[in-house]
Amino acid sequence: MRNSTAASTVVVSAGGLEPSQLDEALASGHVDLGAQAARKLAEVGLKTYRDLLMNLPRRYEDRRLLPDFTALEDDATATVTGEVVSRSGTRSRRGLHVLRASLSDRNGRRITAVWFNQPWLEKQVYPGQRLIVSGRVKRAGASASLTVSGFEVDDDSDSLSFGRIVGVYPTTQGLSQAYLRRSVRRLLDALPAIPDHLQRSLLERHRLISLDKAWRQAHFPVDEADLQVAMRRLKFDDFLFFELAVLRSRDPSRTGRSFVVEEATLAAFESVLPFEPTAAQRRALREIVSDMAAPRQMARLLQGDVGSGKTAVAAAAMHVAVANGAQAALMAPTDILARQHLSNLQGFLFPLGVRTELLTGTMSAGERNGVRQRAASGEIDVVVGTHALIQEGVTFKDLGLAVVDEEHRFGVAQRRALVKGVTDVLVMSATPIPRSLALTVYGDLDLTVIDELPPGREPVKTRLVNAAKRLEVYRFAAEQVAAGRQVYVVTPLIEQSEALDEVVATTELVLDLRTIMPSSCRLDLLHGRMRTAEKEDVMARFRAHKIDMLVATTVIEVGVDVPNATLMIIENAERFGLSQLHQLRGRVGRSSLESWCVLVAGDRSRKTQKRLEVMAKNTDGFAIAELDLELRGPGDLRGTRQSGLPELTIGDLVTDVEVIEEARGLAQRMLAADPDLDATWAGRLKDELRRRSSKVMVREVI
Ligand code: ADP
Ligand code: MG
Repeated sequence: MRNSTAASTVVVSAGGLEPSQLDEALASGHVDLGAQAARKLAEVGLKTYRDLLMNLPRRYEDRRLLPDFTALEDDATATVTGEVVSRSGTRSRRGLHVLRASLSDRNGRRITAVWFNQPWLEKQVYPGQRLIVSGRVKRAGASASLTVSGFEVDDDSDSLSFGRIVGVYPTTQGLSQAYLRRSVRRLLDALPAIPDHLQRSLLERHRLISLDKAWRQAHFPVDEADLQVAMRRLKFDDFLFFELAVLRSRDPSRTGRSFVVEEATLAAFESVLPFEPTAAQRRALREIVSDMAAPRQMARLLQGDVGSGKTAVAAAAMHVAVANGAQAALMAPTDILARQHLSNLQGFLFPLGVRTELLTGTMSAGERNGVRQRAASGEIDVVVGTHALIQEGVTFKDLGLAVVDEEHRFGVAQRRALVKGVTDVLVMSATPIPRSLALTVYGDLDLTVIDELPPGREPVKTRLVNAAKRLEVYRFAAEQVAAGRQVYVVTPLIEQSEALDEVVATTELVLDLRTIMPSSCRLDLLHGRMRTAEKEDVMARFRAHKIDMLVATTVIEVGVDVPNATLMIIENAERFGLSQLHQLRGRVGRSSLESWCVLVAGDRSRKTQKRLEVMAKNTDGFAIAELDLELRGPGDLRGTRQSGLPELTIGDLVTDVEVIEEARGLAQRMLAADPDLDATWAGRLKDELRRRSSKVMVREVI
């Protein structure tokens, strides 16, 4: 558009755009965006000036030095600019439409741009136009062609589209990239300065550039450094407002009780422990009991790798609650786990005179009634159970502490039901999620991490084998069984909806293994379609060593603890996420016996190889989770899918830990100083928070 300068002059003389007008519709005409533009922009969801401003480039292309046509190498992907000299569309005999345009560069050298099957482009590409085309280069002697994967018409007098680092906006039907750039340019030109919601002192402390600069540089960066500082500022805001929203959504009126935490109580607990707590366990317990002592309701996530000893820490906290005359409850996701927790907790708590009982759906109605009555009367101190704890509306005489194991299996509503009143809540998770994710997904919970395993644990030896070597693997399994050890074999549950396949797959595998394994090997089967009582029976027999080899789906994934099991074979290991493999591997190596995990890869692709090698090389669940996050993205990470990740505009959970922590720290300090953000300095901040909160899905708080 050759008249762009004239047009923007008109706008500036009309007074420009006040920051307060940013939320007005583009159609209001404060900035001249062209006749049809406001409607077209609105069609792609850009309705206000602010929308346009916040519509950041999806990526950037360095077009400062577009290559000379002579410099194009065969098979390379390149972006070049040239003028259309001629063009012609043809149709091949098989009906394929091919459009060829001859482009000329500054020095008159030619290249042919080729489009396949886009006949409508014949009307849009014509001689005299300057195009910027990207695609794959084909060289044949002196001539070169380029199969176009993307192109722009450069109709821009200001050259916003080449000779610089150029932002590429999310695809918009009917609006050219050049047009979007020009619109944003005009908007920015018309805006005097975008006011900042952070004070200068804060910007300095956190090494942030002003919002005004950040927006301008994000759309039109001069160089990489420019772009980087702009992104850091915008990300910082992203996370800051997210954390503010999350932290504020905690109901401040929710006061818990202030438990009295006496040294003697803690010492009594330690005296009955059959082992010395690790430093990490001590640290975790200190954080938990200091929450319990404080008047505010505790909402804490206790995260620790499998086997890190979370249960003992939770038991100590329960002991503190009981010592204060209150009751405690522990909710586990499955029957098997509830029973296992019960037996562990009883080991810790029985010697201290704490009365602990079980409540699950598989108990008889009479038994359940008894437990309910004793919980209501206060005869029981600790109840361990499954969903039944909530579903059956168990009332406690005085529930002071609720521990929820394997949080992600419970919905928020279920947790809420448990936490009526003033109960302190401790959520335990063995899913090692990277700190950056934990701070966002669980932004509503304070975080305690047990980052140390009890001493003397031999790392599980992990081997990666191809399916072709399966027989050798099972020969090794037979040796383990002969030596009195037990073995898990896990097959993937392909899809929840394919539950039937799951049954078939496991059943077939069992049949298969019956012929492979010696007849003396006692084999059995565990899958999600079995009734709870059946599952429980199988687990009980495995625990009692009446089964040597247990073929299972991931139902055994969490928490199952059979120290005599020393070998875990995972079939079709490529189908599992790394974090999930790590959880599975955690089922062995639970004693001083030497243990193995064998990953049987069903395919030999390099990608599979690479992913599974991560398992062989790493034993630290957090490191694996980080790598998993990098390889698969947060959406796939187990335990996060249901919880609704924040809709971050630009923040990246993988790489932005530093920014997240800084932003969270600032959010905490701001709210500590001014819980309702009523101070005058916070006015703009609060407006922005309100604006964003309506968009961001904040994960509900307990
Ligand atoms: P998690 O729940 O974190 O997976 P557990 O609490 O089930 O781990 O502990 C795993 C095993 O380690 C249990 O048998 C437990 O008794 C034992 N254990 C816990 N803490 C210690 C410790 N400090 N030293 C030795 N063994 C421990
Ligand atoms: Mg556990």
